[in-house]
Order: sequence, then structure tokens, then C-alpha cells
Amino acid sequence: MVKGVLGLHHVTAISSDAQMTLDFFTKILGLRLIKLTVNYDDRSTYHVYFGDEIGHPGTVLTFFPWPGQPRGRKGAGQATNTSFSIAWESIPYWQDRLKSHGVSLEAPRKRFGDTVLSFEDHDGQGLELVGNREIEERTGWIQGPVPREHAIRGFHSVTLSEEVLERTESVLVDTLGFRPVGQEENRFRYEAGKGVAGTIVDIVSRPNAQRGFVSVGTIHHVAFRASDDEHQKYLRQEILKADLNVTPVINRNYFRSIYFREHGGVLFEVATDQPGFTIDESPEQLGTRLALPPWLEHSRTEIEKSLPRVTLPKRIVA
Ligand code: ZN
Repeated sequence: MVKGVLGLHHVTAISSDAQMTLDFFTKILGLRLIKLTVNYDDRSTYHVYFGDEIGHPGTVLTFFPWPGQPRGRKGAGQATNTSFSIAWESIPYWQDRLKSHGVSLEAPRKRFGDTVLSFEDHDGQGLELVGNREIEERTGWIQGPVPREHAIRGFHSVTLSEEVLERTESVLVDTLGFRPVGQEENRFRYEAGKGVAGTIVDIVSRPNAQRGFVSVGTIHHVAFRASDDEHQKYLRQEILKADLNVTPVINRNYFRSIYFREHGGVLFEVATDQPGFTIDESPEQLGTRLALPPWLEHSRTEIEKSLPRVTLPKRIVA
């Protein structure tokens, strides 16, 4: 059995407005809306999932829109950036595309040999595109508005900002099975599983940084992949051994999850690859209606009334 996590499963962030989030991630970044549902712990809030064609683990960025809530603050004890993988030749395309949509972006930078474009969405969410020289099997969502050769293929990595490198490193390496693979200045890189895009976590060591505040425009939690329930059970024991408080297994309909806060303060989740997003909608129909889990279906009318109205993206064939 594989011992460590396989890589990144999903990242969940907080936004201000469901419609603006839908528009930014589908129309500008060209991700597919794969699920529109509610936060199972707060059914008056949407939970919006974006990903590739069927939301393969490692491609899924999700949002809780919290209208009227204050902006968060990026800082230590937080996941501060979500990075997506694109072909290295696609950097100029994305510079033009983002600029033409009014997204301001920093000049491209080199990081571990790759070219990185950093930008933010309308809420200040920290996003990056990494021009990756590896040949990838992943294609991303190729029926969206971005030509297929330039499509976002899925996650490249997530960056954590930490005051004490060692205590978060020990959770990644000793508990979750990541391997340290490099350092550039105060950035330390770790890989899990196959060690390709989608399995990478960077820790930026910032000993004197202010603590972050999780709210609009910040990341809520980072989820890692367990291959199945047995693997998750094994990882749960490892987390307990590290003296971390971990939840029991929770059924999230599309996966089963456990949650714990790593020593530096970031909320981590370990989620199963199964059953996936096609459990309640066919691949063609993903994200075309409000999906509710069986235990909330009887309250559909009431839930629909309490949610802000949104216009869902139309499928565009490039
Ligand atoms: Zn999650």
C-alpha cells in the first residue's frame, strides 16, 4: 500500500460573491464549473467547485462565497497561494489573456526553473500559473473558452506561509509522506507520490510575519489525496501519532474527509479519490444545476429560496 498522500486533492477558498467567482474562474481562467452545491455545514452558503472535465483530484479549486464578510489578510499560518500548471509555451498567451480581462499581474519570475505568473482575483485571492516544462498527461478542461493547448491542466502546487518551518515540515514529511526536494531562498519545496505537478507543496519560511486572518480572499483549507478508505484510515492513525487533533471521517458526498490543523495553523484535510463528482450528475451535466446530497434533498425548495440567484456558465466549445 502507498503510505503517504498521493498529492493535492482540492483547495477550498473564500470569496465575496458567487457570481463574480463563477465568472472569473470559468470565463477568464477557463476552468469548468463541476459542482454547484451548498456548504454542508452551512446550507445558506453555496459551495462552488471548479476543475477539469470531471473534477479529477488535483484539479479542483472550490469556494465558499461569504457575501458581506470582511476581507481576510494573508499571513503566517496560512495557505497563501494556489498555483496551476500550464504548458511553458503558454506564458505569453496568459499574460495577454489576463491583461485583456483587466487582471493586473506581476512580471514573470523564475522559480525552480519554471516561469511563474502571479496575480489575484477580484477578492485578492493569491493565484499563480506555472509554465511547466514537464510533458503532462492532464489536459484540463478543453471545452472552455481557453484554446486546448493553453488550458490550465490542474494544480501545480500550493504555498504555505509559516513562522516555524520545522514544525510544518514535520507534518508534511513524517505524517503525510512528503519528500523535501529543494530550496530557493526562504522557499522550501516538498513532493508527494509521483512528484509531478499536482503533488507539490512549498513552505515559505517567514519567522517574523504577521499571522493571517482567514476570510474573503484567502484559502480556507488544503486537501490531500488518500487513494481509498483504508489509506485514509492509515493516515488518520499517523495524524493521531503526531499529537494532532483529527476529526472522524465525514461523508462529503463526493469524497470522504478527515480534517486537522497542522502545527503551524493551516487547516488540512485528507480526502478520498472516490466516489468523485459523477456520483449524482453525468459527466455532461456536471455543474448545470444546484446539486444537493440525499440528506438535504427534502429541503431543496427552502434552500434554493435562501441562496442568491446565479447565472451558470454556458458551455463554450473553443
Ligand atoms: Zn475540503
